[in-house]
Amino acid sequence: SGKFFVGGNWKCNGTTESISKLVSDLNSANLEPEVDVVVAPPFVYLSQVKNSLTDRIEISGQNSWVGKGGAFTGEISVEQLKDLGSKWVILGHSERRHIIGEDDQFIGKKAAYAVGEGLGVIACIGEKLEEREAGKTFDVCYQQLKAFADAVPSWDNIVIAYEPVWAIGTGKVATPEQAQEVHVAIRDWLKKNISAEVASKTRIIYGGSANASNSAELAKQEDIDGFLVGGASLKGPDFATIVNSVT
Ligand code: 13P
Repeated sequence: SGKFFVGGNWKCNGTTESISKLVSDLNSANLEPEVDVVVAPPFVYLSQVKNSLTDRIEISGQNSWVGKGGAFTGEISVEQLKDLGSKWVILGHSERRHIIGEDDQFIGKKAAYAVGEGLGVIACIGEKLEEREAGKTFDVCYQQLKAFADAVPSWDNIVIAYEPVWAIGTGKVATPEQAQEVHVAIRDWLKKNISAEVASKTRIIYGGSANASNSAELAKQEDIDGFLVGGASLKGPDFATIVNSVT
């Protein structure tokens, strides 16, 4: 459903030098034309990346302030992201939820503001290991999804990233069946709670130890519409392989 979408979340990694190398690898990569490709560099390198990266790849922020900019020390506004050429912002990432402490309501507000200002949102949801083991995977995902749904004015410009926390940065990728099961549940939730149209149009991408060796198998699943890639997105050739795993 929808065009395959692959995002590279560079997180808090890189230097001027390493990012220049990564950009040049991405610029020379052969990317399947029928895939939306986005990278999210750390804020401080956004201009460097925007000015050197091929227009074939769009730029995303990794976070944004909840409203209009102003006296909010250390924050970056949606307007500033747009000013630097970002088309997207990642919101609700598990590292911001569980390490920084952002809650559902705050994340919902951020999404509403970003969408309202015309930025695409990569809306992240996903359960922790103990929640999965307690059989709460769907409940946790539905609750996080509902917080986005209650806040946003429209789903036209939203991609959902299912990122089980236990798979992020651990090398323990979800099996294609595990991921597909949750993606279907997410799509069903959208159908029941938003509309059949939103359910069928919204891209649901997978994140959590996705890499050049496992992406093809995952991409075969009917409801996996792409990936949000952390570690493997720091290597241009690996990221290109993941982009090209579209089926
Ligand atoms: P890894 O690919 O490093 O597991 O990270 C996934 C992620 O959090 C992408 O947002």
